[in-house]
Amino acid sequence: MPAKRPILIAGAGIGGLTLAIALARKRLPAIVFERAPVLEEIGAGLQIPPNASRLLDGFGLGPALDEAGMRPGEARMLDGRADRLIAQMPLGRDAEERWSAPYRMIHRAALQKILVEAAQKAGVEIRLGAEFSDVAETDKGVTASFRTASGNETVDACALVGSDGARSAVRTKLGGGDLVFSGHLAWRAVTKFSARNEVSIWLGPRAHLVTYPLDKSGMLNVVVCTPGSERPEDEHENAAKMRALFRDWCSPVRTLIDASEFGAPWPLYDGIPKHMGKGAITLIGDAAHPIQPHMAQGAALAIEDAVVLSARLAKMPSDPARAFRSYETDRAERVRAVQATSRRNGELFRMSGLGAMARNGMLRALGPKAMMTQMDWVYGYRAG
Ligand SMILES: Cc1cc2nc3c(=O)[nH]c(=O)nc-3n(C[C@H](O)[C@H](O)[C@H](O)COP(=O)(O)OP(=O)(O)OC[C@H]3O[C@@H](n4cnc5c(N)ncnc54)[C@H](O)[C@@H]3O)c2cc1C
Repeated sequence: MPAKRPILIAGAGIGGLTLAIALARKRLPAIVFERAPVLEEIGAGLQIPPNASRLLDGFGLGPALDEAGMRPGEARMLDGRADRLIAQMPLGRDAEERWSAPYRMIHRAALQKILVEAAQKAGVEIRLGAEFSDVAETDKGVTASFRTASGNETVDACALVGSDGARSAVRTKLGGGDLVFSGHLAWRAVTKFSARNEVSIWLGPRAHLVTYPLDKSGMLNVVVCTPGSERPEDEHENAAKMRALFRDWCSPVRTLIDASEFGAPWPLYDGIPKHMGKGAITLIGDAAHPIQPHMAQGAALAIEDAVVLSARLAKMPSDPARAFRSYETDRAERVRAVQATSRRNGELFRMSGLGAMARNGMLRALGPKAMMTQMDWVYGYRAG
């Protein structure tokens, strides 16, 4: 039986929109509140690994994703200074057969547009320019407040889901604690650049670089991860320091960095909140578990969260608090394991000296088949 009062979703990012679609498919009414007055092109590229692709395909979004994005042939790890291949893993047909879903790459804005259209088609209301500011528990669920251009709006609902990203205001209201800064920054650029249809990970001392094509027009996503300060005093000096790190890297990397215009870097966060939920309030995506991007799994986990949460709510529509605790228990082990592996990947990617030699030897010895086997628990995971 569908819940009569709506479920409020704070944040129309990847997790919030996926949740809205998943709930609509289960005939559970939801309203999405988004702080931004318009959904602009924020972010850059996203890899959509098979564990998330499978869920989006289940919503019938596969053709739209393939139209707007790309499917890579493989992932290659390269020595960023010597321009030498270290290891490779198939991501094309072999990967699709193994994990029963394709690996995709797309601009975040294109994915968000596809999700907005699907949510609206399913009848979901999305209110833009509505910033979540407060929530109180009531006998019947929650009363949440949103700042809008015309003043404060208060809404009664059966539940609230915070999908408002790493700096979540909903998490703050839950007493969820601060983010943990990783000590690293991600510099992102989208550059017109001819490149192989693959995910390339260039490894080197203290830094690494990830590139992949985003669409059929030849746009390349470039992510550079470096050590750095969360709030640098001088942005120009900060950017100059980043470029200087690559001075003795191989010429393809230097050419790419010279050709790319990077905006302000994204500080990379980590950690699990002290409280992920309370009563009829819970969190999904980066609000619940900010994750370093070294496994390309942050948006994928948000999509998994949304599908698991919608399934729990559909089972217990009259008791969202119980559905939320069941969802939180279900997700805890998975998200911690992916967060930890992602953190460890970052450490491996930026090794130097003997550590880097040992890493390269280990990756070479593994070979593509064993590398795929190592990813089974991530890409083969079936949420919901
Ligand atoms: C460099 C880098 C590369 C990455 N690459 C990948 C990748 O390849 N694959 C992958 O799966 N993940 C990747 N990620 C992670 C991914 O971007 C995030 O994990 C994902 O976007 C989280 O989705 P979300 O819905 O939780 O939050 P978001 O997508 O951040 O959305 C949050 C939304 O909430 C809104 N909002 C914020 N505050 C409020 C408020 N108070 N009220 C209302 N609305 C609010 C925001 O405007 C936004 O629209 C990468 C991250 C980085 C930094």
